[in-house]
Formats: sequence, C-alpha cells, structure tokens
Amino acid sequence: MKRAHYRGRFAPTPSGPLHFGSLVAAVGSYLEAKSRGGQWHLRIDDLDPPRVAPGAVESILRCLEALGFEWDGPIVYQSRRVPAYHAALHQLRALGAVYPCACSRKEIAESALPGRESRIYRGLCRERLPSGRRARALRLKVEGMRVEFEDGLLGPQRRDFGREYGDFVLYRADGVYAFHLASAVDDAEYGMTDVVRGADLLESSARQLELIRLLGHRAPRYVHLPVAVDRGGEKLSKQTKAVPVDPARPLGALQAVLRFLNQSTEATPERLTLDGFWRHAILHWNLQRVGARLTGPAPD
Ligand SMILES: [Zn+2]
Repeated sequence: MKRAHYRGRFAPTPSGPLHFGSLVAAVGSYLEAKSRGGQWHLRIDDLDPPRVAPGAVESILRCLEALGFEWDGPIVYQSRRVPAYHAALHQLRALGAVYPCACSRKEIAESALPGRESRIYRGLCRERLPSGRRARALRLKVEGMRVEFEDGLLGPQRRDFGREYGDFVLYRADGVYAFHLASAVDDAEYGMTDVVRGADLLESSARQLELIRLLGHRAPRYVHLPVAVDRGGEKLSKQTKAVPVDPARPLGALQAVLRFLNQSTEATPERLTLDGFWRHAILHWNLQRVGARLTGPAPD
C-alpha cells in the first residue's frame, strides 16, 4: 500500500529542557521523515498541567531551532485541543466502548491484577457503577480487543488488551484527558502516517493504535527507537535530572545522537557546519542500522 505522503512528528512533553533521550526521538523521527522526502511536525504535549514546567516550551523550541530542526506547519499544542478530545470521547461512548469508574486510587491498587507494563484494573465498575458512588474517571472497555502491528525495528507485535492492559483510563479523575486518547486523536486528525519515538512508548503505541482504529482512522506505521539508559540501566529522563542539551554546542549533541543510533558520522566534525551535518545525516540515514533493541547506553 502506498501512502500519499509521509507525515511524521515529534511530540515532547514540556516537563523540562530537551535532554539526550528526547533528542534521540527528535533526530530519529526527523531523519526518517526527511530521508523519505516527508513532512515533520511538532506537537507540544502540554495537556497535563502538573507536568508542564514554566519556561520549558520556550526552552525546547529554542533548542530545536538552535540545532537546525525545521518543522512543517504550525506547532500543535495539546492544551488547545480539548474540544477535539471531548468529541472523540463522545464518539467512543456512542460505540458503547466507554464506562464510568468510581474507584479511588487505593481501591484500584488493592485489587489490581498483573499486566504487561504495570498492574491492571480489575474492572470493578465495568458492568455498573456501585450504588451510591460517583463516576471519577472514564475507562475504555477492552474485552476481546487484540492488536497486531509491525514495528519498523522491533518486528511483529501482538497484544491482548484484556490480559495485558485492562480497561484503561480515557478521562482522568482530575479532569484531564488521558495521554493515550489525546495522542491517538492528534496523530489521527493531523494525518500522521508514521510515528517514530522511544521504545518506552511501545505499549502506549499499541493502545493508541487501537484507539485510532476505533475512531475510524487509518493507523500509522510505528518505529520504536532504543531508549538511552545510564550505567545503572535507568532511562534518562527529565525526572532523573538528565543533562539538558546545550544549544550552544549543537554539533556535539547531534553527533552523539547519531553515534547512539549507530549511524555514520562525518569524519571531521570540527569543520562541520550545522547545514553540512544535516545534509550528511539525511543522505546516510539508515533505519535498519539502528538495530532492534529496547535500550542502549547513553554516551558520557
Ligand atoms: Zn472502578
């Protein structure tokens, strides 16, 4: 099947400045898009107020600019997309795929079953809300749901939602649309053909892919890149105080990402310009060289 055009994206959460781990996803998705003559869009996943750090959006955008990324079209801010998430939730409710859940965090924790990524909700409210209880969240009914997809690096993936994820939340008790719903709606409505991101989001992709199909859209292809880990095997993230990318030294950061992704790097980086870096990187980008693995050691 031939797609009309390649549309990829990078969707950072503005919980802090750009760090090596998120730069890997930015570079990988950018090179996949550009090497195929495709578009690359930028989305800011700022839907969850407690996770948005003051100044982080500006800092991420300044850093991406300093590193020479060029994005297509306007930047999408999830915080401005709430009516679209509301409409999608309404559509899923009309399918009979959504139910209200009254359980507290404590009740969920005490009754949870083992799952693939974390423990899963037992489905206490699936048939009906317990009497006298008020709905706190809305969940997707996943009974019988299965998904199969081909990851561009990790190969064939199969998930049984009932056993592996359980009925997951679409609308949270704190009044925020869940990440899976928002991300699925945005990828679908902005016509993303390809999602390239870290392997820490592999299980999210399986759920989002199913939501995209339930909403009647064509599912994108997925590629999950290895996640950079420190010496102890911990994922680098803004929470673990990963060192921010220094926008004053763009080439050093970009070359480190290319090495992490097992790509050929220009022999004489000290003489390289940013334009030259990107020309070389796009021309020589080879996804299969990245290799199918979930994690890789970050450079020092
Ligand atoms: Zn419940």
